[in-house]
Amino acid sequence: MAYTGKCAFIDLSTGDHKVREAEKHMLENYLGGKGLGFGLLENYAPNPDPLGPENPLIFVNGPFTGTKVQTSARTCLVTRSPLTGSIHDSHCGGHFGPRLKASGFDFVFITGKSAEPVYLYIKNGNIAIRDASGLWGKGIFHTNDELKRQHPGIDPRVACIGPAGENLVRIACIGVDRDRQYGRGGVGAVMGSKNLKAVVVDGDTAIKYHDEELFTDLNSQLTKSILTNEGVIYRRQKGTMKWIRQAQEYEFLPTRNFQKCQFDDFEQISSETCREELGWKDVGCYNCAIRCSKLAKWNDIELEGPEYETTAFLGSGCEISSAKDVLTANYICDDLGIDTISAGVTCSFAMECYEKGLMKDWDGLELVWGNAEGQQELLRKMAFRQGVGAVFADGTRIASQKIGQGSDEFAINIFGMEMSGVNPLGCLTMGVALSVADFASHTRLWLTEAEMGPDFKIEDIPPSVVVGLDTVNIRNSMIVCDFVPSGLEELVPVLNAATGFDHTVDSLLKIGTRLTHLARRYNLRNGRTHSDDIMPERFFKETSCSGFMRGRVVDKKMFNGLIKEYYALRGWDEQGRPPVDVLKNYGL
Ligand code: SF4
Repeated sequence: MAYTGKCAFIDLSTGDHKVREAEKHMLENYLGGKGLGFGLLENYAPNPDPLGPENPLIFVNGPFTGTKVQTSARTCLVTRSPLTGSIHDSHCGGHFGPRLKASGFDFVFITGKSAEPVYLYIKNGNIAIRDASGLWGKGIFHTNDELKRQHPGIDPRVACIGPAGENLVRIACIGVDRDRQYGRGGVGAVMGSKNLKAVVVDGDTAIKYHDEELFTDLNSQLTKSILTNEGVIYRRQKGTMKWIRQAQEYEFLPTRNFQKCQFDDFEQISSETCREELGWKDVGCYNCAIRCSKLAKWNDIELEGPEYETTAFLGSGCEISSAKDVLTANYICDDLGIDTISAGVTCSFAMECYEKGLMKDWDGLELVWGNAEGQQELLRKMAFRQGVGAVFADGTRIASQKIGQGSDEFAINIFGMEMSGVNPLGCLTMGVALSVADFASHTRLWLTEAEMGPDFKIEDIPPSVVVGLDTVNIRNSMIVCDFVPSGLEELVPVLNAATGFDHTVDSLLKIGTRLTHLARRYNLRNGRTHSDDIMPERFFKETSCSGFMRGRVVDKKMFNGLIKEYYALRGWDEQGRPPVDVLKNYGL
């Protein structure tokens, strides 16, 4: 219940597809979203080549997706990332997830490689593989609009790639509903490697609840508590962009490729400036009254955005001080299909390489700090792997390997994943969290307020990261948006009424921990070692700007001690390996 109970396995090499019953024990032990996706990836593809036909793309909903629970737009994609080589989950809102459930499936598991470009059309339990040769080479906006036009149906929704995904750019995203993305980890390249241009979902399969009356009652209490929360009301006004001002005040706003923690021109890219200059209107994903999303209209551009991390990297990270320029770069990325976070960090890395004179030939680009036109041209070249764009198309790790000359010290990634919107020079806790997470995603946890609090001590970091990561695993499995302020205690009764499960906070946390162990084992099997659990060298050489490390340089020994403490709390050995008995305890 709250599930459809059905799933589809599609092989693009043969054109075969099978509809199966979703396995009940998998739903109960892994819930959905990240959890179910990780369980499936582990079972079916323990060691795939990320761009090989055997690497599955798993579009996977959670029990809450498409229901009456607030933010039930949220849905998940799981695969092995070509950017990091890690197990990978990517989340998005919009309307695609709910329509996937309405099409009759809890998840769609896609493997193989089509000989020619194709798209999938999935409606009310039926699956068709269609020719997409006329769409190949087109941007995400055109592809989305054209497929919706061709399939007028009930309420068709499209997930598709742009040229970056087709060109196997390892920071390519999948665009959803035009404005939303499965953004991180190069998932667009996985789709491109299968010659799969798009997935269209439609249908009107109704959602059934285990105990509808109880669910409705509990859900209305939950909705009330969400919508009267002050933080939610503030988020509706400012969007994720509230963080530009707050990060400036807390002093962790990534600026000048993480060299600084504050940006002198931050006002010009703030939420308030965007509302004024970009004509923002509050909009929301499917069934969301939080409405954190902002629809911008400027010149010929109509786009939901920019979000905080897009602005922190395409804006302050490159010292670009115009909201309109950030919006324009955002638009280029969304249409060509590049992740704005990795793209922004990579552009700021390129600007630092330019400043240091590490390459001779820049195709005539003058990538000085603040040059918006140069940045936009670099983004286009990256999507098409043209000229200098080919150097940077696969993110900072691969670019620094090509450029050499010590550039890896300021290539801001952890195990290939560009770091997210908090400068560790201003918040060490986030540096630890992203170093030990299954990958350094912006959606793992957000512990900035905790560290800025008066009572926070350095020894609080490892246990805070343990609880934080496991809790986020659960939220990303049910799935609820990061911006729902409710704790697991409030969510569990609603989950049980919807599904018929008998979960408790403890049983859910056990699932969260299981996922952490599973992901660790998967990543170790696929090439990660404990020496990869580390921040880039820059953060051990430069003086911290804020937090309790203000004015001091982070000592690597001390940092490694925190990592070891984290391993110990997990029951892992000194090299971060989960022992057999620990895995057994979690059914692995
Ligand atoms: S809070 Fe924002 S991102 Fe989350 S579902 Fe609502 S509109 Fe979408």
